[in-house]
Amino acid sequence: MNTKKLDYAEIALDLPLNRTFHYGIPKNLKKNTEVGRRVWVEFGNKDKVGYIVGFADKSDVSKVKPIKSVIDQEPIISQKMLELTKWIAETYLCSWGEAIAATIPAVLKKGKVSVKPRSKEKELPALPKSSPHVLTDEQKSALDKVLLKIEKQAYCAFLLHGITSSGKTEVYLQAIERVLEKGRTSIVLVPEIALTPQTVERFVSRFGKKVALMHSGLIGSKRYAEWKRIKEGSAKIVVGARSAIFSPVSNLGLIVIDEEHENTYKQEDAPRYHARDVALMRARLSNAPVILGSATPSVESYYSAWQGAIELLKLTRRIDHRPLPRVKVVDMRLELAMRKKLIMFSRVLIDTTDKVLAKKQQVMIFLNRRGFSTYINCKKCGLVLKCKRCDSVLVYHYQTKSVVCHYCNWRAAPPDICPHCKSAYMKYFGVGTEKVESELARLFPAARISRMDTDATSKRGSHEAILGEFKRHKIDILVGTQMIAKGHDFPRVTLVGAVNADVTLNLPDFRASERAFNLLAQVAGRAGRGEEPGEVIVQTYAPDHYAIRSAAKHDYERFYKEELEARKSHSFPPFTHMIKLTLRARNERMVVENSKKMKEFLEHELKEKGIEIMGPAPSPIARLRGFFRWNILLKGKNRSIMSEALKGALTRYRSTSGVILTVDVDPVSI
Ligand code: ADP
Ligand code: ZN
Ligand code: ZN
Repeated sequence: MNTKKLDYAEIALDLPLNRTFHYGIPKNLKKNTEVGRRVWVEFGNKDKVGYIVGFADKSDVSKVKPIKSVIDQEPIISQKMLELTKWIAETYLCSWGEAIAATIPAVLKKGKVSVKPRSKEKELPALPKSSPHVLTDEQKSALDKVLLKIEKQAYCAFLLHGITSSGKTEVYLQAIERVLEKGRTSIVLVPEIALTPQTVERFVSRFGKKVALMHSGLIGSKRYAEWKRIKEGSAKIVVGARSAIFSPVSNLGLIVIDEEHENTYKQEDAPRYHARDVALMRARLSNAPVILGSATPSVESYYSAWQGAIELLKLTRRIDHRPLPRVKVVDMRLELAMRKKLIMFSRVLIDTTDKVLAKKQQVMIFLNRRGFSTYINCKKCGLVLKCKRCDSVLVYHYQTKSVVCHYCNWRAAPPDICPHCKSAYMKYFGVGTEKVESELARLFPAARISRMDTDATSKRGSHEAILGEFKRHKIDILVGTQMIAKGHDFPRVTLVGAVNADVTLNLPDFRASERAFNLLAQVAGRAGRGEEPGEVIVQTYAPDHYAIRSAAKHDYERFYKEELEARKSHSFPPFTHMIKLTLRARNERMVVENSKKMKEFLEHELKEKGIEIMGPAPSPIARLRGFFRWNILLKGKNRSIMSEALKGALTRYRSTSGVILTVDVDPVSI
């Protein structure tokens, strides 16, 4: 492209403006302009970093400003990545510049450093590495299907559905090994580096310095250094969280997404992309296969596999042939009737814990709720303590002796008297992980108990510290939120208890059942990974719910069947695509009025496009950080038609100042 010396460059800017801009190319800069390089340009009297995305021989803009300078000596983004970012902009309704900016390290966005062609890098010596296992028949047949596509350099999406410890990771490792032999590169996505140290460690021990780790702890120049190592080709395998999907590898041969069902793959700020969908598109553009792996695949992926868009590979047996743990469902309604009060632990959970501790084995207790008491209630006037800025109930935290809003993190000392009626009858209710921990300490005074949740692990390195102590059996009982549900391997854990399985099930969201099922299945997978068989006890007030019943029986097929039927009857994803529009402002009336106007406008604009418009309605957290929030939901069959139609409509929409609109395509929650 840069051989043709045109007069104008098409520049994408990191601004929420749905277009690119023409800038003139001064003669002295002609030889330096190239698609993919960054430039300094003036925009609205300010200097901004822009990205060259194309050239033009004429421009219909009357006064074209010149490019001020070219920052890089080579492109920082490849042609393929430009295509990918364009797709992201179109699909997730952001500007091309915003999409490009999302793919590069922060230092580059600020225009701080100039990227130069690489100095000849030295090939790193092969390190002592762990050797591959001889595969089981199931693993081998799964791997062979993937290898076929690697050989052919062909796109294909695989869903590797394998129960925990069925050897999925070993399949990834051997597929990557072949890609490496072919001189190509791989990207491996994991939900969160800190929560999956054992998985990450296996990639490092197999491939040594060829691995680049992209984790959130890498900031500033460190992140840029790792990015450069990848771009220059000395790292051949990138392991990282969500944004690692944008790694500047060339010659991509394989993408792996471990735990593909995890919500962490969805970015919650603009551009609100889903790394799984981006991965599928990147693999397609690169003619590379992609493996989505999970013990509990997302309903979307499972449905795609049924439809034939994704090839299903199954691992049905654990490597060591150990049976899956027995899951006992305890009906807490009966416990309530028997004991005439709400209780935290059922008889059977207490007795089994006793038994397991006596055998010098370990216990994990799971509750997806942080804090001590989950709400404070005035006995006299009925007031429930709420955050002043959010429509949310304040949670009492014992460790910090404060009430905390879990949405905006506002905290204060708990009031002794009711802020409304001034009575002194403030009572504490509800159970969080802190209370579970203290109740366990009371019941099992000799046991060493520890807790793992975002409060307990706010210091860097504390995850690893707690997990390490648990592994070395310095801890007998580990209490935790979904943080402890992830792929840790603790052979001495023979009991896993879920204190209240309904916490997730009762979320006001169409994915609540799926989340509850996933979490239970994952938590259950922690039990019985060693010599002794494991046992799982699930406490619930909804023992007949299909999510709980099928998780208890390890019956994935049945769960997907029931869930898909439910989704179909309400036309929820995967039978439709959804786009969530959220309007927010500090003034409630403005939000309500604008939401109604917006709805009318969209009805008029989108009527003929087969798009259903629901709402407006207050969002489940109707007020957040002082902003009132209302949602409008669009549903339709075809995502690109929806995105395109909405984009067109929004350019015609005159927004009222003071109301902020965000658009979330394929939202993970409503
Ligand atoms: P998953 O990713 O499905 O949880 P892993 O790949 O972690 O399963 O395998 C579970 C354990 O079995 C690991 O310790 C791994 O090293 C081991 N393993 C995997 N495949 C084999 C094999 N074919 N032979 C022996 N051990 C294996
Ligand atoms: Zn009161
Ligand atoms: Zn708040």
